[in-house]
Amino acid sequence: MKPTTVTLDADVVVIGSGAGGAVTAAKLAAAGRDVTVLEEGPWIDADAVEPFSLEEMAAKYRHRPAAALGTPSIAYAEGRCVGGSTEINSGLYHRLPGHLVESWRDEYSIDEFDPDTLDAYAHRIEEDLAVSRLPGAPPPSSALLERGATKLGWRSVEYSRVFRYDTAGRGVKQTMSRTLLPQAVDAGATVLPDCRVHRLLRRNGRVVGVRCQRTADGRVEDLMIRANHVFVCGGAVQTPAILHRSGIRGRVGTGLKVHPMIKIAARFPHPVDHGGVPMQVVTEFGPNLSIGGSASRRGQVAMALAEASDNIEDALADWERVSIYYAAIRAEGSGRVIGVPGLRAPIVTYRLTEGDMSRLARGLVHLGEVLLASGATELYPSVADGPVVRRQDGLGAWWDAVTRSRASLMTVHLTSSVRMGEDRARTGADSFGRVWGYENLRVNDASLVPDAPGVNPQGTIMAIAARNTDQFLADT
Ligand SMILES: Cc1cc2nc3c(=O)[nH]c(=O)nc-3n(C[C@H](O)[C@H](O)[C@H](O)COP(=O)(O)OP(=O)(O)OC[C@H]3O[C@@H](n4cnc5c(N)ncnc54)[C@H](O)[C@@H]3O)c2cc1C
Repeated sequence: MKPTTVTLDADVVVIGSGAGGAVTAAKLAAAGRDVTVLEEGPWIDADAVEPFSLEEMAAKYRHRPAAALGTPSIAYAEGRCVGGSTEINSGLYHRLPGHLVESWRDEYSIDEFDPDTLDAYAHRIEEDLAVSRLPGAPPPSSALLERGATKLGWRSVEYSRVFRYDTAGRGVKQTMSRTLLPQAVDAGATVLPDCRVHRLLRRNGRVVGVRCQRTADGRVEDLMIRANHVFVCGGAVQTPAILHRSGIRGRVGTGLKVHPMIKIAARFPHPVDHGGVPMQVVTEFGPNLSIGGSASRRGQVAMALAEASDNIEDALADWERVSIYYAAIRAEGSGRVIGVPGLRAPIVTYRLTEGDMSRLARGLVHLGEVLLASGATELYPSVADGPVVRRQDGLGAWWDAVTRSRASLMTVHLTSSVRMGEDRARTGADSFGRVWGYENLRVNDASLVPDAPGVNPQGTIMAIAARNTDQFLADT
């Protein structure tokens, strides 16, 4: 049956309900603006599925296997549900380091961008989302990393998290579907889940509306939403894809940045917790290399072991003693997102430099050192046919194993595909996210962050989105 077409009107349309979109919608609604949020994914009760489970992957991830093409390719993950990637992330929180604020301001000519302003926004977000440290002792997977770092004399810190704790010390991750989106709805915003935006409608240098398709009660509806203002907040991959599908190019989709990660599945002589993600991060080699822990449910352990070796039955049967850790770098290399009309998924490419490859090899060796120091007995690297290592003197073999054809990399931090600033030759949007050439079209998500921050990016994305929304409210 041919879908029906429905036309709606909104003052402001926000596309995407993740870290950037939720901040934008909550602030606009609180200021009394008429806001409609369009979210491609479903609205799933935050308690309905187990965090980090395979069920969560099926329900909340954009679950087509995706990889940024290149040698090596880099697998990446994105959320696709109300709340976006904040629903599936680990909730580790870090402010944007002040020295990066200053260097980005100078490099991209970003107006009114300084550490004090960003810190003031970060402070408000930290209060709203109850950003805090773990009230009790860390779980073993985290304590092990700290133990190994202390033994080696390396610096490591426990990261804060976007978690609210009750008096018994139980923590609940403060995702956007639990916090800012209900606040936006209470203040009058409309959130339309299961609503995928195909493209923006343009006329004479303005965006006049949005074409999307919504599934509700088993029925598919074509929607045309007329809007005075549009914020695109689909994340660093989908935002440039939406703009490209709408015929908006310029410096859009170039300069994509990620934090590539190389991993080790580490086997210990004792069981390790598997419910959460370690909050300890080794900062000894920062700001360009950091070491931490990943989700390690049975499914993730199986995938990590399989990357290393085809002889994994024994370790897999013992998966409760296996935990996954990573080394992540700030890559020098960069990538591109190309949205193709008619194709549902954009093409994403990424080119790592030789320097990036050697930083990844160094990261893998340091990660191995700290895990052996923490008591691990067997290390499976995410390197095809990478030797399984049991002693410090075996780690040297990994230097030559981390090659473009053998390293298996992934990332969950993607930024910088529509950078902001006044340098029009290098940015896709102005200092407050307004897309060059369009008076009423703004980007307000990870895409704007001018470079990889080297720390967990959600706090940076939210602080920048809040700053830009205030500027919009002052201007319109
Ligand atoms: C597994 C994982 C773990 C992570 N861990 C951490 C962490 O511990 N700490 C941290 O700081 N960061 C972490 N991150 C990264 C962080 O979550 C993201 O950087 C951040 O959420 C990005 O915000 P965003 O608003 O740009 O995009 P998202 O939060 O991804 O939101 C984008 C939303 O837009 C929607 N959308 C896209 N296209 C369309 C369309 N055409 N129509 C309608 N809607 C659309 C998507 O469905 C999605 O819901 C993690 C990410 C992942 C995936």
